[in-house]
Amino acid sequence: MRIDLHTHSHRSDGTDSPTELVRNAAQAGLDVVALTDHDATTGWQEALAAADGLDVVVVPGIEISTTFQGESVHLLGYGFDPDHPPLVEELHRVLDGRDQRLPRILARLAEHGIEITEADVALQSGSAAASGRPHVADAMVAKGYIGHRDEAFQGWLNSRGKAYVGRYAAPLLETIRLLKAAGGSAVVAHPWSRGSDRVLTSAAFEELAAAGLDGIEADHVDHDEWSRRGLRDIARGLDLVVTGSSDYHGTGKSSAFHLGANLTDPAEYERLLGH
Ligand code: AMP
Ligand code: ZN
Ligand code: FE
Ligand code: FE
Repeated sequence: MRIDLHTHSHRSDGTDSPTELVRNAAQAGLDVVALTDHDATTGWQEALAAADGLDVVVVPGIEISTTFQGESVHLLGYGFDPDHPPLVEELHRVLDGRDQRLPRILARLAEHGIEITEADVALQSGSAAASGRPHVADAMVAKGYIGHRDEAFQGWLNSRGKAYVGRYAAPLLETIRLLKAAGGSAVVAHPWSRGSDRVLTSAAFEELAAAGLDGIEADHVDHDEWSRRGLRDIARGLDLVVTGSSDYHGTGKSSAFHLGANLTDPAEYERLLGH
C-alpha cells in the first residue's frame, strides 16, 4: 500500500487541477492520496469524482494556517464535515486574511520597482480559493522579474523578505478542537520546518495531544533523519499516529516533492482514519 497524505491542487498553490492530481496519483502507483489544499475544501468534490474508476482512494483533507506561540504551524485535517459552522467561520477568517494581505505585498514590491497588479496575481491564482505568496511569485515570473517561483521567496516573500507581510492564522489548539468537533482527524504538518521547530517541543506536543491531536507528520522533505527520528519518538511517547507525505505542489515545488516522495505506513493510516 502506497499512501500519501498531503498534496496541493490549484485550489490553493499547487499547479494540477484536482482531477489531474488524482490521475497523477494513480499513475504514480499510489493507493491512497489525500488532497490537503491550504485553508480550503473547494477541491474535494472534483477530486472524489476523479477517483471514480481509478485504483486510488481519495481522502478529503485540508492544511490550515495556524499559529502557536507566535510561530506559524500548518495543521492537516482529514475527513471532517466541511460545513461545520464554527470551522467554516474560522476558515473564512483565514481566507479573508490572505485577501487583505495581497494588496499590501504588492505595495511593498512596488516600492522596490516591481510592478505587479492584483489582476496579474488573479491570472495566476485562477480557481484558487486560497491566494498566497506562491501566486505573487508566479506573477513575478510571468512579468519577467524572476525565473522561477522559488526566487521570489529569496529576499522578497520569505519571512525576512523585503515584501513580506503577515496575515491572520487560526489559533492552533482551538483549530485542533474545531477539526475534532467536525468529526475529523488532526495531524501537525512538517512540525520541524522553518520556525515552528522552535515552539513544537515535546512538551508542546503533550499540550496538543491533550487538545485532541491525532498525529505527527514525521516523514516530510523538510525533515532530516534526526528530525524524523525525534518526531517518531515523541509520537510514540504520546500514542500519536506517525504520517509521511510528499507535500506535492505539481510544478510549483521542486521534484523532491514528487507524489509518493514520502509515504504513510498502512497500519498508521488505519489508526488515523479507522478503515
Ligand atoms: P502563503 O500561503 O501565502 O503563506 O505562502 C506559503 C506557501 O508558499 C507555503 O505553503 C509553500 O507552499 C510556499 N513556499 C514557502 N516557502 C517557499 C519557498 N522558499 N519556495 C517556494 N515556495 C515556498
Ligand atoms: Zn503550499
Ligand atoms: Fe505546509
Ligand atoms: Fe503543504
